[in-house]
Amino acid sequence: MSTPEPLIFSVDELWLDGQARRAVLEADASGIRLADDGATPEGHLAGTVLPGLRDVHVHLGLIDPTEFLAGGIAAVADFGWIPEQARAWLDDPNLPEVRIVGAFLTCRGGYPSDREWAPPGSVREVTVTDAAAAVDEQLAHGATGVKVMLNSTAGPVFDDATLRAIVTRAHSRGAKVVAHTEGAGQAARAFTADVDALAHAPFTERLDDSLLRAMAHTLTWVSTLDIHGYGERTEDFERALDNVRRFHAYGGVIRYGTDLGNGPLPVGINTRELAALVEAKLSTVALINAVAAPELGRRISHTFEPRCEGARSQSSRGHVAPGGMAQWLASTSVLDHHQIREKLQ
Ligand SMILES: [Zn+2]
Repeated sequence: MSTPEPLIFSVDELWLDGQARRAVLEADASGIRLADDGATPEGHLAGTVLPGLRDVHVHLGLIDPTEFLAGGIAAVADFGWIPEQARAWLDDPNLPEVRIVGAFLTCRGGYPSDREWAPPGSVREVTVTDAAAAVDEQLAHGATGVKVMLNSTAGPVFDDATLRAIVTRAHSRGAKVVAHTEGAGQAARAFTADVDALAHAPFTERLDDSLLRAMAHTLTWVSTLDIHGYGERTEDFERALDNVRRFHAYGGVIRYGTDLGNGPLPVGINTRELAALVEAKLSTVALINAVAAPELGRRISHTFEPRCEGARSQSSRGHVAPGGMAQWLASTSVLDHHQIREKLQ
């Protein structure tokens, strides 16, 4: 049996590397790529294409993950589950592209070891002497990063030596470290320990500008703004929004993430999360970079709606609420190579 030829098609507009341009793409079961120069398209896909929209903070074990693709999300990062179960998500064709961190790494008796939603096996208590082993266990199950829990409002937290030992081992194995930080000083501790990302924009305290400026060079923040009130403007929401706005103004990188599985959130694109990022003054390009994967993968996100310029000008005329960009991104749907073929003109 011969391998089927890839589908070659042109698009009005492809967003990649912070720019939109006309492009010719090719798609097959292995994924979607830029076509070679001179390739002849078989058809045209009108509208705009982005690398698949991505939610980098979800909990697949707490929701029905088969709803993601129809909900407009093409890629996710699971931020904590039983590693022996989580590894099965990596190659499931009914799911978005999945990355995992394995179990929640915490100190003895630390959060979330006492939580009902965290089943046995999803929490790995770590001491300084087995920090390297704990990291290696997660990577052996296919994790590409690990997650450390630093929640001083809900129990004890790692001492600096253990935290450092986890980070050192992860980095030596080419894995990133994301931290849940909650409680006074915990975000600063994560930063000092060379953690790569915060799983939530800090919400329990206002971070001062000198710390934010320093963090902006090395840390990525996952937004998760909407979990603070689900549309109600709570104090935590306002604090997190203010921190995000200033962190981003200093050049800090924000990624769209919702903490899906935590409270009443849609399994798919959350327009309130996107609108909060618009409110945090992310530019059009920064917003697209926050929510679209950095490169083309197995699926694309596509909308027939004209480019976001249109969404912006509509917004300025008042037809679309201040979240015009949010609505535009929410109008995208996830397509694989079969679905692209059906939409070609
Ligand atoms: Zn979470």
